[in-house]
Parts: sequence; C-alpha cells; structure tokens
Amino acid sequence: MPKKKTTAATMPGESTRILLSRSRVQTRIATLAREINRDFRDEPVHLVGVLKGAIFFLADLARHMSGEVSLDFISVSSYGKETQSSGQVRLTKDLDTSIEGRNVLLVEDILDTGLTVSYLLRVLEQRRPKRLRVAVLLDKTERRKVPVSADYVGFRIPNEFVVGYGLDYAERYRNLADVCVLSLHGKAKKEGAV
Ligand code: 5GP
Repeated sequence: MPKKKTTAATMPGESTRILLSRSRVQTRIATLAREINRDFRDEPVHLVGVLKGAIFFLADLARHMSGEVSLDFISVSSYGKETQSSGQVRLTKDLDTSIEGRNVLLVEDILDTGLTVSYLLRVLEQRRPKRLRVAVLLDKTERRKVPVSADYVGFRIPNEFVVGYGLDYAERYRNLADVCVLSLHGKAKKEGAV
C-alpha cells in the first residue's frame, strides 16, 4: 500500500507519513474514556497533563469523560530540540493545587524509556492521592529502560520517532491532527528518528 502523506508544512530535509490517522486516534480515545469512566465509577477525576505533548490527548479524553473532571498541568525537562533523551528528568512546572486524597490520572503523550512517567509517579505518590493511574496515548514498549507501564494505553507503536497530535520535533508539528512518523533526510540522524 502506498505510504500516506500528510499535509504538514515540513522543513527541507524532513518528511512525515501518517502512522495513526486522526479518526483512529479519536475512536481509541473515546474507548479509553469509557474504560476510565467505568473504573472510576463516575467519582471525580483530576487529570494531570504533562506539558506540552499531552494537551491534545488530555483535551479530547476529558471531553469524552462523564462525571466530574478537573485539570492541572505539570512540566518536566524533555528532549527539547533533540530526539534523544538525556536520561535526566527535572520538574520545571509544578501543579497548581494539592492532589491529596484525590483520584489522579496522569496523562502523558508517550511512554518511551519510562524515565519521565516513573519520575512523575514517584513525585505524585508522595503527595498521597487517593488513587494514582496513568494514561498514555502511545507506548514504545521496546524502548523501556525502567520498569513502568500505563493503566490506559492508546496504541503500542514501534520504535519510530513520531510527531503530531501534541508531539513535536524542535517545537514543530504539534498541531498535526494525525500521529506521523518523522523522517530526516540528509540530516544528522538522531536516536529515535528514522
Ligand atoms: P521517556 O521519559 O519515557 O523516555 O520519554 C517521554 C518523553 O519523551 C515524552 O513525553 C516525549 O516528550 C518524548 N518522546 C519520546 N518518544 C518520542 C517520539 O517518538 N516523538 C516525540 N516527539 N517525543 C518523544
């Protein structure tokens, strides 16, 4: 089958192809939201989004959830302009409100090495939430360096560098509605990029 092209405005030497279409993403998120509604039995759920990659996922998930939903955001140091993790995780923006005694769902774009989510779980667990669960849109299981898994996984994907639907490369491509594989042609290849 021919590779699907996106209409993304790419930079010279970069190209994208659709891995997960917007309709597949939306259908899967609606299913995940139903599972979450069922598991929390319509108790209030506090969604904690990891900036910036999780914002589209969080927004669409929240709109499919019934019951009381509140939102907060946290930010950690990430890949920046590189596609390779430094292995260092650092909190750069903390939550605005306490999570003590609350049902917390950590919402992340992608589980890669697992360093970010395992760090955030340690930080959030210390604050004594009632329940702490993790939802990720994407999971690159084969890249895991630390043993961590998500309670809700949108899609398990192969080891390819993806952009779109919140995920960036050097702050670009977040606004793509589809999840796309980014290819770099003639540029210095970095780990994760194809
Ligand atoms: P981890 O700590 O699990 O290695 O990485 C999590 C973070 O790495 C994600 O929140 C995301 O910012 C970044 N990341 C990992 N894989 C990819 C990818 O394929 N594409 C993009 N754009 N970011 C990724």
